Amino acid sequence: MNEMPDSLLAADEAAPVTVYNENGRSPFLIVADHAGNSMPRALRQLGVPEAERERHIAWDIGVAGLCRVVADALDATLVQQNYSRLVIDCNRTPIPGNMGLSEGQKVARIREIFRPYHDRIETELDRRRQAGRPTALIAMHSFTPVFKGVARPWHVGVLYNRDPRFAHLLMALLKREEGLVVGDNAPYSVTDASDYTIPVHGERRGLHHVAVEVRQDLIADDKGQCAWGALLARLLAQAYRELD
Ligand SMILES: [Zn+2]
Repeated sequence: MNEMPDSLLAADEAAPVTVYNENGRSPFLIVADHAGNSMPRALRQLGVPEAERERHIAWDIGVAGLCRVVADALDATLVQQNYSRLVIDCNRTPIPGNMGLSEGQKVARIREIFRPYHDRIETELDRRRQAGRPTALIAMHSFTPVFKGVARPWHVGVLYNRDPRFAHLLMALLKREEGLVVGDNAPYSVTDASDYTIPVHGERRGLHHVAVEVRQDLIADDKGQCAWGALLARLLAQAYRELD
């Protein structure tokens, strides 16, 4: 018997999902898997020091603000997940509080954080399909400028797997911008093993989609988020117009 309760979030804790501009009218649905660094109290910070929880290992720095700028500029709906990826996306770094989890504890994380987020995306996509609305799914992330001691050269990365159509259009437009170094499936790529959002919500539904990674030092403050948000909104709209 494990003494940890199998429920995770108390009634007064942050909701796992925030929907912004719910009645947005554009085809774009923006999703942010790693927008927050909230921790369920029951997990006692997972044994991770406060300073680490502010760092990129816990969340995608800058993405929440960036996504709001993009959502406003495109009149798009944004669905974001607010809990730290250390809680539910546990494959990157050994975390003390993630060692030896019971089945019940794993199920609680899926049931209370992972599922509500993805169910909300599904609900939104179902609603659009029923209404005959076209949708392009945009998954937004950010990446650390230095990884394992090596500086990353890209300003932005465009990620895709089976269906590169929208990603290739966006990448071509980004490459035309003066001075930008654009990653082609870099610094990460989309795979079934490493990703859920694009394979399940984008590929399986046959929606146009792309995952975008912006380097965190470029979107660390409001100014960067506004500039990058405006750029991405402009180029996403242009890429969408260039689809057949
Ligand atoms: Zn991410």
